[in-house]
Amino acid sequence: ALTDKLSRLVKEIRGQARITEANVADMLREVRMALLEADVALPVVRDFIARVREKALGQDVLGSLTPGQALVSIVNKELAATMGDGVADINLAAQPPAVILMAGLQGAGKTTTTAKLAKHLIEKRNKKVLTVSGDVYRPAAIEQLKTVTAQAGAEWFPSTPEQKPVDIALAALDFAKKHYFDVLLVDTAGRLAIDDVLMREIKDLHAAIHPVETLFVVDAMQGQDAINTARAFKEALPLTGIILTKLDGDSRGGAALSVRQITGAPIKFAGTSEKLDGLEVFDAERHAGRVLGMGDILALVEQVTAGVDMASAQKLAAKVKSGATFDLNDFLSQIQQMRQMGGLGSLMDKLPSAMAAKAGQVDMGRVEKDIKRKEGIIHSMTPKERTKPDLIKATRKRRIAAGAGVQVQEVNRMLKEFEQMQDMMKKMKGAGMMKMMKRLGG
Ligand code: GDP
Ligand code: MG
Repeated sequence: ALTDKLSRLVKEIRGQARITEANVADMLREVRMALLEADVALPVVRDFIARVREKALGQDVLGSLTPGQALVSIVNKELAATMGDGVADINLAAQPPAVILMAGLQGAGKTTTTAKLAKHLIEKRNKKVLTVSGDVYRPAAIEQLKTVTAQAGAEWFPSTPEQKPVDIALAALDFAKKHYFDVLLVDTAGRLAIDDVLMREIKDLHAAIHPVETLFVVDAMQGQDAINTARAFKEALPLTGIILTKLDGDSRGGAALSVRQITGAPIKFAGTSEKLDGLEVFDAERHAGRVLGMGDILALVEQVTAGVDMASAQKLAAKVKSGATFDLNDFLSQIQQMRQMGGLGSLMDKLPSAMAAKAGQVDMGRVEKDIKRKEGIIHSMTPKERTKPDLIKATRKRRIAAGAGVQVQEVNRMLKEFEQMQDMMKKMKGAGMMKMMKRLGG
């Protein structure tokens, strides 16, 4: 739905030389929707939109950019700037051992991330690392840390449910000092919901061990509520960094924006799997693309400016929605649209890096050649054959193949693709146009 409307808007404001109050309003409304769909918290969305509006208004549109493209680029930059400021790695600038306190809700990924960090600090920064669990409410949690610490190749300091978290942490700190550890990672208990007891406990812990890093671990899948969690932890603790977990899930990760804005702390790492090597330095620019569904939008902007015939695409969308049969003429018009995109390769540098890398594995020259051959095949068919592909049996196939200068197998292959697409069209009745075009584009 987002891209549907945006495509229209981008098109409408094409050819205007400046971004104006009038043309920006509609587009910002779509951006707002996109952010809300990505689960960015409402107040954060409002702030963000206000900042973009201010930056965009009256801005001259440079060179080959349309106002639509310029606005998209402003949005993307502002999003990346909001989420990142280049501060990446863990700060260990302290009299050893550098203490790192892990905070966050239950299930956020604290224990897993503790082990991931231990592994990272050992392998990338050559540190001697000790872990300890202050999660005295769940004996299994202490065992869990023991297991993952061993997997990470770090050492684990024992604790029991009978002890107080502060006592545990101080004992571990003492041990770490005596045995020359560089880093002490302190895992803590979470709760299903925020409560005062938990906050008091972790505050006391913080006061007792003076961590150089207090990391807020937050689940990227957490929706609108991320803002409340973040606020509560920020009020309790001087957070020095955020780790966004479960980015391998299919959420758009809007929590990143909310949490970053509320806490003001940098997002240092992203968790990308349950395994201990699933920890990556947070890439704000790439994440901005994800939050906004930027791949779609940029591809779309490109298509519009490359002069793809949106009218005929819309006609097709309407046809599909109405349930009419998708025939070979429609198939042909799809193929031709793909060629019109002015060299598929030109789309690639507009995509977010991850998508572009994927697209880079495809040989665009070959794709274009393949499209031309398919066109040739359809051109060798009679009008009747195009509207009633069922007619095309062996004899006709041989004639068509000869006419197009290809093998019969190739005709078969194309007909099969056509059938698959026809099938897909049936299933996609009601789907948005952009989604559809994207799938058609392969
Ligand atoms: P804690 O309660 O905050 O200590 O959370 P845990 O570390 O026990 O993690 C809760 C669940 O989330 C476990 O099943 C983890 O395997 C899983 N988990 C943690 N981080 C990630 C991640 O980055 N990706 C995925 N897919 N799962 C994760
Ligand atoms: Mg835990």
